[in-house]
Amino acid sequence: MSAPVQTNEAALNGNGVQKPEPRLNDPDTLARQIVEKLTYSIGKNPASARKYDWLRATTLAVRDRIIDHWFESADRFAEEGGKRVCYLSMEFLIGRMLRDAINNLGLTEPVREALARYGVELDMIELLEPDAALGNGGLGRLAACFMESMASTGVPGYGYGIRYVHGFFRQEIADGAQVELPENWLVHGNPWEFERRNASYEIGFGGKVSMIQEAGRPARQVWRPAERVLAVAYDTPMVGWRGRQVNTLRLWSAQALDPILLDAFNSGDHIGALVESNKAEAITRVLYPADSHQAGQELRLRQEYFFSSASLQDIIRRHLEENDNLSNLADKVAIQLNDTHPAVSVAELMRLLVDVHGFGWDEAWTITRATFSYTNHTLLPEALEHWPIHLFERLLPRQMQIIYAINAGIIREAAQEHGYDDGQVAAISLIDEGNGRRVRMGQLAFVGSHAVNGVSALHTDLMKQTVFRDLHELYPDRIQNKTNGVTPRRWLMEANPGLTGLITEAIGPGFLDDIEKIIEIDDLADDAAFRERFAAIKRQNKERLANVIGERMATSVDPSAIFDIQVKRIHEYKRQFLNIIEAIALYDQIRSHPERNWTPRVKIFAGKAAPSYVQAKEIIHLANDVGRVINADPAVRDLLKVVFIPNYNVSLAEIIMPAADLSEQISTAGLEASGTGNMKFALNGALTIGTLDGANVEMLEHVGEDNIFIFGLTASEVAQRRREAHSGRSIIDNEPMLREALDAISSGLFCPDSPSRFHSLVSNLYNNDWWMICADFKAYWDTQRTLDDLYTRQDEWQAKAVHNTARMGWFSSDRSIREYARDIWKAGPGQAG
Ligand SMILES: *Cc1c(COP(=O)(O)O)cnc(C)c1O
Repeated sequence: MSAPVQTNEAALNGNGVQKPEPRLNDPDTLARQIVEKLTYSIGKNPASARKYDWLRATTLAVRDRIIDHWFESADRFAEEGGKRVCYLSMEFLIGRMLRDAINNLGLTEPVREALARYGVELDMIELLEPDAALGNGGLGRLAACFMESMASTGVPGYGYGIRYVHGFFRQEIADGAQVELPENWLVHGNPWEFERRNASYEIGFGGKVSMIQEAGRPARQVWRPAERVLAVAYDTPMVGWRGRQVNTLRLWSAQALDPILLDAFNSGDHIGALVESNKAEAITRVLYPADSHQAGQELRLRQEYFFSSASLQDIIRRHLEENDNLSNLADKVAIQLNDTHPAVSVAELMRLLVDVHGFGWDEAWTITRATFSYTNHTLLPEALEHWPIHLFERLLPRQMQIIYAINAGIIREAAQEHGYDDGQVAAISLIDEGNGRRVRMGQLAFVGSHAVNGVSALHTDLMKQTVFRDLHELYPDRIQNKTNGVTPRRWLMEANPGLTGLITEAIGPGFLDDIEKIIEIDDLADDAAFRERFAAIKRQNKERLANVIGERMATSVDPSAIFDIQVKRIHEYKRQFLNIIEAIALYDQIRSHPERNWTPRVKIFAGKAAPSYVQAKEIIHLANDVGRVINADPAVRDLLKVVFIPNYNVSLAEIIMPAADLSEQISTAGLEASGTGNMKFALNGALTIGTLDGANVEMLEHVGEDNIFIFGLTASEVAQRRREAHSGRSIIDNEPMLREALDAISSGLFCPDSPSRFHSLVSNLYNNDWWMICADFKAYWDTQRTLDDLYTRQDEWQAKAVHNTARMGWFSSDRSIREYARDIWKAGPGQAG
């Protein structure tokens, strides 16, 4: 036996295997290792390597360094034995990863220098990375910010989700209309992920449940699924700030247990031999392009159960590797349900505890409730998930039985201990009896959790008054607020290096580790020299965006105009339509009053509509049609431009946020749960025009009323008007600017090829104005004119912009995560466990 070559004891791990040398981070070493990757991992000669090869080689060299930290983090968690946090989310809207990883490891400059030696620009190859779009919008991006913040604040966090082969669709605009194209982020492989064949689990569907009685054991239910698929784990490291901690995002991919039915193949049925494998893999093939709307299809329920069950089996297996049994599960694991998409987990954990691990019902229920907590993201009725009983029962027969049993217990408690009558019982029931019998996933998540949170103060209040009014009465301590946040690493440091550099010069680098210290620039709002530099950086960022608009859309925009930006999913409640109507009204006024001193404005839109959401697609079409007419009209003299940038995603957001003067957050009050786009904009020094909705309310408190522009009906006024069957007709009749704008749309001015294209959009305003567009138009218009005027006084505008950046530190997802860790998870630094 030959002894391994030993350098010293400490370099050996427990198995006597020599640990690799830690990698050095100087440009020389990096340059050498990048070329080594290029040569031996990619098989390319540096002389003939293409940009994409350099991206891959750089990623691999950086990845080695991440792995070192990843193992250290895993070893530390195992040693400390603390409580872990599992974040279950159907969506993770991550975006590109290289820049984030390099920034958090402090490698930006050395990598830049290393690549420069070969004439390769880091900034350029970074742009070749596909944007990982495993999510629709705010909910998925929140999950991504939370993963980064858990790693940055020292919370042992595990993300669990789905490895969709096709992420959120790619949007193109053809003749003004949205076209959806498949997204293919994995075509060139994914160097960030590691397949873990050893972490794979069987997931069942359908079949039968039967009671069995074995000698010496209580009778129990056994589920024999008709169909089984395999969930295989793919792990991606999530690097925290300064690389101190690296957490894991584990995404599940579906595979057939038997990839090919050889009997069928050999008997000549070549297609049939692959049917099962296709059916299994279909589960994780595509992300549903639905946001704030229930998808309502069988495949979606399969996806939800698939990733919930795989994640729970994985959590249980790990727990049993380190503990004798599952009775202390809740002391060691907190499971956060990001919206109701993983809510079936409540029934699945009960099944695993009771049927598989032999727990009694009551103890299993106590463990389940103590383990889960649930975040609600919407009050929109059309977004609340409920599944037809017959579908649920067919696909998940045992889980359906368990839901009935949970429901019976809750109803018994409500009726016997709290004297609930039939009406109140119907309101809290997990089964909606009124509507063709459906399982209400919100109620299931609520009763199966010890904590339920909203995502802004207003949204949490409204949750208590509306969707969960009766459950809140029954469990008054369960609902709490956790206002959303965004990670300042991606959304300030990486997206806006110019501003980050200026702030560092002004107050030192302390704010990089504690973003709330950014308040130290607040007084510099009064310093003319600082304001000028702040404005110069904004100008550069606007030029960069103007270049993107010029390149992608062949439209020229003037960076000295107000960049007035609304980017987010296209939805009626977000009211892009109100913004477009205001643009048309402004267009009318500029043409009728050319003598006035108009402040030049560029209105920029971006965002995707769900493919089945007809009105949202009409709004996209309208924005494009209006832009085409206004931008080509010489009478406007470039005082107004309207631009729709296709394919909004995280990477585009990173260019847009730093370039905005004005951030449009104009949802119908009471409808936007929080918003996080609003936070990214304000952190980068945009002023907000917005309603008192979602986190805008708290932004007002933080930045101060002089530095944010609030207009319109409040949430309670909206509710009141809706009760009174408000319609737009009388408002339109009394508001000539609004009427003329709507007449212009109806006349076909913007769509002469198809003049009736937008008739239904307009008639909705006359008939009911459900989203209060008419009701809020005048207040919105007036506020816009106040902003026009303010923009001519640049000193004042820039001072307000500085106050916005200075006072947005609280809206960091680090703060959100610390609150979850302290109040809900009882995990992470400073928590016992
Ligand atoms: C931040 C973000 C969102 C959420 O935007 P809201 O304005 O809060 O709706 C959606 N999509 C992307 C790509 C984002 O970066």
